[in-house]
Amino acid sequence: MTTVLTKSFPEDKPLPAKAAVRKKRVLIIGGGFAGVAAARTLKRADVEITLIDRRNHHIFQPLLYQVATAVLAPSEIASPIRQLETRQKNLRVILADVTGIDLGTRTVEALCPGSGTRKIEYDFLVVATGMRPSYFGHDEFAANAPGLKNLNDAELIRTKLLSAFERAESTDDEKARARLMTFVLVGAGPTGVELAASIAHLNSVTLRKNFRDIDPAESKIVLLDGGVRILPTFAESLSRKVAKRLGKLGVQVLTGVKVEKVDEEGVVAAGARIPSATVLWTAGVAASPIVKMLGTTTDRAGRACVGPFMDIPEAPDVFVAGDAAAMTQDGHPVPGVAQAAIQQGRFVGRLIAARIRGRRDGNPFRYRSKGNMAVVGKNFAILEAGRLRTAGFATWLVWAMLHVMALPQLQNRFRVQTQWLWSYLSGQRSSRLISEPPRR
Ligand SMILES: Cc1cc2nc3c(=O)[nH]c(=O)nc-3n(C[C@H](O)[C@H](O)[C@H](O)COP(=O)(O)OP(=O)(O)OC[C@H]3O[C@@H](n4cnc5c(N)ncnc54)[C@H](O)[C@@H]3O)c2cc1C
Repeated sequence: MTTVLTKSFPEDKPLPAKAAVRKKRVLIIGGGFAGVAAARTLKRADVEITLIDRRNHHIFQPLLYQVATAVLAPSEIASPIRQLETRQKNLRVILADVTGIDLGTRTVEALCPGSGTRKIEYDFLVVATGMRPSYFGHDEFAANAPGLKNLNDAELIRTKLLSAFERAESTDDEKARARLMTFVLVGAGPTGVELAASIAHLNSVTLRKNFRDIDPAESKIVLLDGGVRILPTFAESLSRKVAKRLGKLGVQVLTGVKVEKVDEEGVVAAGARIPSATVLWTAGVAASPIVKMLGTTTDRAGRACVGPFMDIPEAPDVFVAGDAAAMTQDGHPVPGVAQAAIQQGRFVGRLIAARIRGRRDGNPFRYRSKGNMAVVGKNFAILEAGRLRTAGFATWLVWAMLHVMALPQLQNRFRVQTQWLWSYLSGQRSSRLISEPPRR
């Protein structure tokens, strides 16, 4: 006997009086400064937002160097992205690695842990995937010279720094000990400078008297850069002050030096070998490979050359914001800093909300700089805001206050303040953990 299955067709049913209007779907790739700012700006918009990130946490990158040098613990500068869902009803967070973008079908392909690849449709797409370290065509350097971009990098650097002293303490070989106690940083931009100064403090204050056979204060820190001066994005007078300050902290600054090789033994720079067990890469950055998938024009660092409304010419409903976007303003590039990323994210959010309401685009994006800062160890920071240039203790206090206030989570603000106060008064650092590699 055969059973005939009957199927009801939509035609059998009466049509609803008015077809339900589907909400516009905004897909944001990246839960960094730009992506989160765009999502928050759309809080009251009548849209469905999906925010995808390959990590479950947002990182406050300006303080990453403090995790790398044991001042702060990773959780103190990170906040769960999913937390945003509790405060924003029109937002959905997905933990996944975006692996493809198809502008034709308006879909994004994302690899979700455990459930494989998913295709997600969008009406508006915001690409805010930031940057990653660039080795200027020498990717082989990466194995011996980690960059500093995420919490894994910071923990790896912390482990490398602290392990170098443990190994130096347990060897009698003078040459090996000297190599272990030499730290080389390639790239003297703000990250290289801040990291070098913090390592100097770790070695000369925190670790002092912690060992019997070695004196960490005698270790060598070398900061290399291919340019003519350190901190090229700051005024020359400030760059000179910082170089002097680094000298006082015991950091040897070498400019106009190109790194030719990085291997297990150290670096070769300007034809000379510097033996070192800890080489850190703070030199260049390149855009995430996701940007290439947009098929739009990119600059040398792989960033999308966006129009004045942060969109790309190939698809006006596709925006690139934050570090992944290349944009010039009054003849100068908009810098790859957190405040620019936040402003761009907000701009894109407002623009999408306006377009959904059928409004015109308004004025193009304009970056408003509130000034640039860099910190050089304890009690010293520099600030450049328009014509204002300051350096010293008062600027350092301002730096500390601004950075605590900028941390996204209230509990992190309290924890960071407490850690800083403890560190400032005692010279100690609480997060001196050597992370073990995962056991096989
Ligand atoms: C060590 C360091 C120190 C810094 N110090 C300062 C400072 O003192 N002041 C300042 O203003 N700026 C500073 N910056 C720069 C600032 O952090 C960046 O400008 C800012 O983070 C850019 O924001 P973004 O949203 O564009 O990218 P990010 O904040 O980098 O966020 C990008 C996000 O995209 C996600 N992502 C990338 N690819 C994918 C993918 N394929 N799938 C899913 N998710 C993906 C990442 O996981 C990440 O969460 C510093 C940067 C670093 C690295």
